[in-house]
Amino acid sequence: MANKIFTFDIAKIRNDFPLLSQKIYGKPLIYFDNGATTQKPRVVIDTLSKLYSEHNSNVHRGVHYLSDQMTKMYELARQKVQNYLNARYVHEIIFTKGITDSINAVAYSFGELCVKENDEIIVSEMEHHSNIVPWQMLCKRKGAKLRVIPFNEKGELLLDEYKKLINSKTKLVAIVHVSNSLGTINPVKEIVAIAHKNNIPVLIDGAQAIQHERVDVQSLDCDFYAFSGHKIYGPTGTGVLYGKERWLKEMPPYQGGGDMIDRVTFEHTTYAELPSKFEAGTPNYIGAIGLGCALDYLTTIGLSNIQNYEKKLLDYGTTKLLALKGLKLYGTAKNKVCIFSFLLDNIPAYDTGIILDKMSIAVRTGHFCTQPIWDHYKIEGAVRASLTFYNTLEEIDFFCEALKKIQKMFE
Ligand code: PMP
Repeated sequence: MANKIFTFDIAKIRNDFPLLSQKIYGKPLIYFDNGATTQKPRVVIDTLSKLYSEHNSNVHRGVHYLSDQMTKMYELARQKVQNYLNARYVHEIIFTKGITDSINAVAYSFGELCVKENDEIIVSEMEHHSNIVPWQMLCKRKGAKLRVIPFNEKGELLLDEYKKLINSKTKLVAIVHVSNSLGTINPVKEIVAIAHKNNIPVLIDGAQAIQHERVDVQSLDCDFYAFSGHKIYGPTGTGVLYGKERWLKEMPPYQGGGDMIDRVTFEHTTYAELPSKFEAGTPNYIGAIGLGCALDYLTTIGLSNIQNYEKKLLDYGTTKLLALKGLKLYGTAKNKVCIFSFLLDNIPAYDTGIILDKMSIAVRTGHFCTQPIWDHYKIEGAVRASLTFYNTLEEIDFFCEALKKIQKMFE
């Protein structure tokens, strides 16, 4: 299968990711676990190494050269994220340690500001646990209720049901942009518009969208948008919370400590301006700069090139997998990314995953932190192959042959 028909040079791109050329059990690695984390381009790895070797110094504190330089690089990374998301103001970008941290920050701070007894928060049936549990904890603290938008058999949200859930007690809608288990791309712009008609703010979990979709927070008009750096080819332990200025200004800080204050006495503390108010303690400044570098890398390749290529992978993979007798695909939404969750005949997902591993194919098995999705289908979980722009059609061919071999073994 010739990859050269596509607009970018896949061999060159793969060469940018050192880990991909590894052999596992003596065979070339096929890395289909990008939903869990993505591999890092050499430019990101080299940048991290150079920062620690030549530039390391704490930000926002020193009067000396290194600290000043590092602070400038950290704030430049913030601008890169602002540009990537098309946020209106740079101080609307808060660096966190990951999306889980970002959502917990909003659940706490927004919850303190706006949520009281009998209020309601809307999530969907296809949320990652990170976009369920923090809201559940908030509801428990405040005596509020969680309401859930259901999805259909294909894995598409039922917007009519969503509209019915909205009422005067609804305080926030928290919704996933792209499902990590079903691959569904949700119509988040429409979801935001419906909520805003009722003056309800919306948080979007962008963990699986930011690396595949063009995200423009002003066009979406969402109130909060969150993602993790490690899923967009950046370092682990980095994340972003975008929040509209009006909310971030009003919300109380999530954590107290250094850097987030203006003046401290034993009687009273006043807080720093945005974004510092939400960045207590030494931030992961080197990670944030590495994330900025990953965004630069993606911009160089071009998101539309990436999307075109990933669409070919999706169409090719869907056709090939559906041709396998006995394979049941979960998540067949019209609008989806290249994530394939499936079960093969009656073979337990774990067994399929373990045998694929021995064939040097890395997939994930289990519930993928979305147990309510599998409750919907009345199964325990599935096998998930999540692909990205450095994967190839040949890898899909090899993968499908491997699945056929597994079916034979269990015959
Ligand atoms: N939301 C979604 C949709 C995800 O896929 C993930 C990671 N699988 C998360 C949230 C949580 O991300 P992290 O573990 O990086 O905080």
